Amino acid sequence: MPLKNKEVQPLARTPEEWAVAARALFSGARAFHGKQIFKWIHARGVLDPQQMSDLPKGLRDALEALELPKTMTIATERRAQDATRKLLVQMKDGATVETVLIPSVTGGPNGLPSPVGEDADAAAAVDEEELDQDRDRDLDLGQEKKRVTQCISTQVGCAMGCVFCASGVAGLKRQMTAEEIVAQVLIGKTRLEPGEDLRNVVLMGMGEPLHNYEETSRALRLLTHPDGVALSNRRVTVSTSGLIPEIARLGKDFQGQIGLAISLHAADDATRSSLMPINKKYPLAKLIDALRAYPLPKRRRITIEYTLVAGNNDTPSEAKKLVRLLRDLPVKVNLIPVNPIEARDYGPPSMEGVLAFQKVLCDAGYSCFIRRRRGDDVSAACGQLVLLGAKPKVRVRPSA
Ligand code: SAH
Ligand code: SF4
Repeated sequence: MPLKNKEVQPLARTPEEWAVAARALFSGARAFHGKQIFKWIHARGVLDPQQMSDLPKGLRDALEALELPKTMTIATERRAQDATRKLLVQMKDGATVETVLIPSVTGGPNGLPSPVGEDADAAAAVDEEELDQDRDRDLDLGQEKKRVTQCISTQVGCAMGCVFCASGVAGLKRQMTAEEIVAQVLIGKTRLEPGEDLRNVVLMGMGEPLHNYEETSRALRLLTHPDGVALSNRRVTVSTSGLIPEIARLGKDFQGQIGLAISLHAADDATRSSLMPINKKYPLAKLIDALRAYPLPKRRRITIEYTLVAGNNDTPSEAKKLVRLLRDLPVKVNLIPVNPIEARDYGPPSMEGVLAFQKVLCDAGYSCFIRRRRGDDVSAACGQLVLLGAKPKVRVRPSA
């Protein structure tokens, strides 16, 4: 589907849009320069026009005026002992958001890959079967590359008001543009370490991606463009609090290829509405219908995120309710013990409580992971981000 050609920010331009823009900037520019510029930016991560060595000098000079490197800068970077890197990135107007690089956790005894594949690469966004295939392929090549998942933001703050979430408490400050969404990945790639490979991108940072649909979907097109970062669709996951019309739109626009994660957090309307105000507009039955209608390719699954909040949604009977609600849906479940935020008094259940909840789901045949916190020593206020780099603490194969 062609992207709409309105006033497009430079880093959000397709090769075709760059061809038009280049001609407007420099009379000697030719159509093929559009693809060249796009490749420099998105495939090679080069934002300094003078380094774009196959462009004519006049075009390089004209591109300088766009000040591409100023689109986004790293304000702070913190690296945890587990190599998780949390970047606070700053946009032109001074607004900041966080993006996190999360290396997969691999390696069992003797440095061999762990037999239990303990790497539900950030949020188990990607099916573990696929990860196993990846690992086999890497091993065949004699080089196991460290897979990195990047978590990116889509809004400054968030309008959805989920009670346990720092972004929700902050409220929506502004939408991010497609170029800002993509720039996080371009900047993130400059922070990869030797032997690391960016494999997955999850839209699970600050903001509700589907509440910024136009910019988010353009960013998805750019990130998956074969001449650019070239992520495969299934390695990009959109996490949503459940905006039903936009879930349908995403499914249609990308033929169900983009990974989908749903923040469910409760299995009945009263509980869900108390944690997530959006549930009053889009209640559970309709949300479940929307998931059924999502054109998911065969063997792929939707990720259900369930943040466990002690005393709110964490009892075994609620787990049973969840089992009934999800019946027959192609899903896997990620349990996230809530990360307490300063403004609110919510806390996680005990580990026993989490395991008991998980057991109900496992016994019913679901793949169910517990998201472990990553990058603890660099954790900052933003509730969800510190939890994203998950690996299952306990991995129990469903019995059925
Ligand atoms: N707005 C989207 C994506 C960003 S939030 C969404 O809600 O899905 C990513 C995930 O982090 C969501 O599942 C969200 O519910 C969860 N989250 C937010 N704050 C949290 C906290 N304090 N502790 C645990 N999980 C949290
Ligand atoms: Fe927004 Fe997601 Fe936080 Fe809810 S959990 S307030 S939707 S960022």
